[in-house]
Amino acid sequence: PFDVLIVGGGPAGAASAVYAARKGIRVGVAAERFGGQVLDTMGIENFISVPYTEGPKLAVQLEQHVKDNEVDVMNLQTAEKLIPAKEEGGLHELRLANGGSLKARSIILSTGARWRKINVPGEDEYRNKGVAYCPHCDGPLFKGKRVAVIGGGNSGVEAAIDLAGIVAHVTLIEYASELRADAVLQRKLASLPNVKIITSAMTTEVRGDGEKVVGLTYKDRNHGEMHEVALEGIFVQIGLVPNTEWLKDAVALSKHGEIEIDARGETSQPGIFAAGDATTVPYKQIVVAMGAGSIAALSAFDYLIRLPAQ
Ligand code: FAD
Repeated sequence: PFDVLIVGGGPAGAASAVYAARKGIRVGVAAERFGGQVLDTMGIENFISVPYTEGPKLAVQLEQHVKDNEVDVMNLQTAEKLIPAKEEGGLHELRLANGGSLKARSIILSTGARWRKINVPGEDEYRNKGVAYCPHCDGPLFKGKRVAVIGGGNSGVEAAIDLAGIVAHVTLIEYASELRADAVLQRKLASLPNVKIITSAMTTEVRGDGEKVVGLTYKDRNHGEMHEVALEGIFVQIGLVPNTEWLKDAVALSKHGEIEIDARGETSQPGIFAAGDATTVPYKQIVVAMGAGSIAALSAFDYLIRLPAQ
């Protein structure tokens, strides 16, 4: 069996693997797609000490750094079920989609998350060409330009407030007849001069010129007319979904499906830790995921050295 088995090969899983391997214990990583969300990212400008890099390049470096250590990397493996140990200190079992099963004394869950899409024509085509999902990451790319934020929940309204300080103009588009964000956020938003709020609006198309976004089309849900907004960027903020559906019966999840962890990265099950976007960690960023991955690995090691000798 593994001493530490990591599920997920994004920034959190890679950091866990390097930290755990450096303790001289038996470490494995099973990942559906090594690199994770980083593979879908173009420019990265907030990976501290590296002023600019690109997702596919960082993903290769993550994998290389892991492989420079003694780690059993199992790429293209999807975990389907986690069966926690029956008694404390026992072996946890991870079942894979290919029918295989892996056993480990401790587990680190780092399966990340995915942005919910609006699923309209143009969204995929213009992803990274004006369609964005992360204001902390891509906001500065739209300095002085016009953007829309789609979604009037807390994350959409926070994004609109954040972007209003950077870009020329923000149009916030909400599907329902009113915003769902906290009142204090709504008040702040309403006080900003360069923000327009449109409610009861269904986005129907991302429009582009073949190279980049030039606007969006929405339907007024009260009257049925179509409207066009000319802009350079669209931030989709209708939810980040953790990849934890398969963990429902294994560890405690928040109402948003995030794995609940404590300050040491431990889940509700002894010996099972978690890190990164799949968890209740408050900010979903590369450096945050890496820090959390190192915390989970060190906590797993602390757990292992307290187990009775086998
Ligand atoms: P992920 O990167 O999501 O990795 C999850 C891993 O788990 C993957 O290997 C996946 O294949 C695997 N996995 C999932 N389910 C299973 C399963 N059942 N079995 C096995 N493996 C599984 N952050 C920044 O800091 N700066 C940026 O500029 C930036 N730009 C971004 C741009 C885009 C378009 C996106 C989508 C995100 C961006 N982010 C950025 C956010 C950043 O990518 C994430 O915060 C970070 O990747 C989270 O790392 P993670 O390891 O927790 O999860």
